[in-house]
Amino acid sequence: MKNSAVRLTFLGGVNEVGGNKILLEDFNYNVKILLDFGINIKDYNDQYDRNEVPNSIKELVKLGLLPEAEKLAIINLYTDYHVKKNQDSNDLETNLDGIFVSHPHKDHFFGLSFVNRNIPIYTGVFTKKIISAYYKCSKTSIINNYGGLNWKLFRTGDILDIKGLEIIPVHVDHSIPAAYGFIIKTSGGIVVYTGDFRMHGPLAAMTQDFLNEIKNTLKILHQQENKRGEIQKPRETKVKLLICEGTHIHKGAIESENNVEQNLEQLFTKHPFDFLLVKFDRLDWDRFRTFSSIAQKFRWKFIITEKDAYFYYLLNKDEIHESMKNPNIIADDHILILTQGTVKYRWQEKIRQAIYKEEKGHRLIKYNEIKELDSGFFFYITSLRKDVIEKLNPNFRGAFISSSVDPYTEEFIDNNRTLSRFFRKIGIPSYRVHASGHAMPHHLINFIQSVNPEYLIPVHSDQPHFFKTFFKNSKIKVMIPNKNDRFELKSGIVNGSGVF
Ligand SMILES: [Zn+2]
Repeated sequence: MKNSAVRLTFLGGVNEVGGNKILLEDFNYNVKILLDFGINIKDYNDQYDRNEVPNSIKELVKLGLLPEAEKLAIINLYTDYHVKKNQDSNDLETNLDGIFVSHPHKDHFFGLSFVNRNIPIYTGVFTKKIISAYYKCSKTSIINNYGGLNWKLFRTGDILDIKGLEIIPVHVDHSIPAAYGFIIKTSGGIVVYTGDFRMHGPLAAMTQDFLNEIKNTLKILHQQENKRGEIQKPRETKVKLLICEGTHIHKGAIESENNVEQNLEQLFTKHPFDFLLVKFDRLDWDRFRTFSSIAQKFRWKFIITEKDAYFYYLLNKDEIHESMKNPNIIADDHILILTQGTVKYRWQEKIRQAIYKEEKGHRLIKYNEIKELDSGFFFYITSLRKDVIEKLNPNFRGAFISSSVDPYTEEFIDNNRTLSRFFRKIGIPSYRVHASGHAMPHHLINFIQSVNPEYLIPVHSDQPHFFKTFFKNSKIKVMIPNKNDRFELKSGIVNGSGVF
């Protein structure tokens, strides 16, 4: 048997929600890859105000928001690529073989803004589209710098080969589209990384596909090992290490996207409001669809800003994702688009042109027209829009519906509490209608039992000790690393500098 040696270094996402960065090194294949390269958004917000940007990448490293490449023996991890347009990178060669991005939430991909442009970025076809749409809708700066990246795109069904190391990406259900888990066939055994996932969403079958593919990979490996005669007595082939997300290992709510729709309908049959301010994560397509279909059903309007409209328009345009054609920014007449002044940016020009081209100009509304809106509209707000609220008809009654992804930050959006507090002052009550993007405790336990790995490392959780409790009488060995801890997978034993 080969002398396997695989090392995993947990650079972020351990004992915390978000900021996942895991360095995987397989010394037999001479491969070094990163699984996700996120930044913990809460830590970032503690350092920088909303309109402030870091001075340099060095500063982010110094603050511990990005890892120190030298300590990891990664050569030229960061870029010198300038944020000005059309500037080619002069980045030197690197020894990092790739960064695998599980899904387009900032706490998993934010670090890409700072990396060497020669590093291959492996991600889903649509994951890249979303990151690009996000990039195009905001001002380019050191923290929004996703140009010139070396994308390598995959779909479910592909098998990626990095110098002999095979990686199988499989779609999973999460609060945004284009989320993947990875099955990695290292020389030290199979490593599975879930990314973020759930089992109670509309696309729960995709998470089941991931589980099926794990089982299938094990079956094939088992047959191969038997054929080669490496196993005298046939034995079970197991996943060596499962790196599993655990955001909600400590709490659950019996909820689903269907419930969100039913609960909203229930509110609609009796409510006395003229308008509803709504907040959800812009990337949460399921939630957008839910609100849009409620608006349509009750003949309400759904108002979004032209920036949001451009973002959705970019994603609508794609041919491959049927599920993202509805709602449709151009075709759906119940969606009104709030325009801001004369055209200043290219994206403004683009979205207005697209609307005029289809003779839908009547759906563009100006700020001073907000007051004249008839009763019966949703106003989609991602952040505190005092400018909008001041312009609403003062005789209207309204409420705020908080429906964002989760109470912690996966993106840069206002805290629900800050919003509720503000609305309370001006006489707007708050409701919460929600379904989480993360698996509930019983789903996580069932999933882990089904995979039945030798070792389990929870990530994306600030309550990892729950995993220890749940599996204390099981053969599954749970390890809880601290930041920067290393683990080695070596001929069947795992050594680490961690706490176990
Ligand atoms: Zn996520």
